[in-house]
Amino acid sequence: MPRRVRIRDGATLVVRALGFAAEAHRTQFRKDRETPAINHPIRLLQLLVDVGGVTDPLVLAAAALHDVLEDCEVGFPELEARFGTEVAGVVFELSDPPHLDKTAMRAWAVETAPRLSLPARLVKLADKAVNLNDLIDWPPAGWSDARKASYFDWSADVVAGIRGTHGALELAFDGAYARRPVL
Ligand code: ZN
Repeated sequence: MPRRVRIRDGATLVVRALGFAAEAHRTQFRKDRETPAINHPIRLLQLLVDVGGVTDPLVLAAAALHDVLEDCEVGFPELEARFGTEVAGVVFELSDPPHLDKTAMRAWAVETAPRLSLPARLVKLADKAVNLNDLIDWPPAGWSDARKASYFDWSADVVAGIRGTHGALELAFDGAYARRPVL
C-alpha cells in the first residue's frame, strides 16, 4: 500500500525537502571541494523553475532530494516516511545502485534512462545540464580535458535515451554540452 504523507501544499513539500537535503548534505562539498553540496540541488530547482517552467512539487521535491540516497546516510524507508512513496520513488529511480564500479554505473545509467518516469526524466535532464556547466565553471581538481570530455559524452548518451521529454530542458542540456572541451 503506497504511503501517503499528508503535506498541506506544494510549497511546504518543497521547502521541507530542501531543508532535509541541506541537513543530510551538511558536511559535504561538490567535486571542486569548495562548493557546498546543497548548492547543487538548489541549482537544479532554479533550472527546472526558471528555464523549464516546472512547478510540479513532486518534481521539485525529488530534485531537492535527488542525491540523498546515493550520498548520505539516508535510507528509502526514512525518505518514504517523511515525503511519501511518490517522492521517495522518484529519488530511488535517480539513485545509482550501490556496488557498481564506474564503468558499470555509466552503462547502467544509459540503459535505464529510457525507462525513467516523467518526473525522474525532468530531474535527470536538469541534473545533467547543471553537472556539465559545473565541470566547466568549477572544475574538479585534477580532471584533465579528456576526463571531462568523457563525462560530457556519457551524459549525452544518457540524455539521448530521454529526448522528447521537455524541449527547454533539452535545449539547456545542449547548451551545456556545447561547452565540451575540444580535444
Ligand atoms: Zn545531481
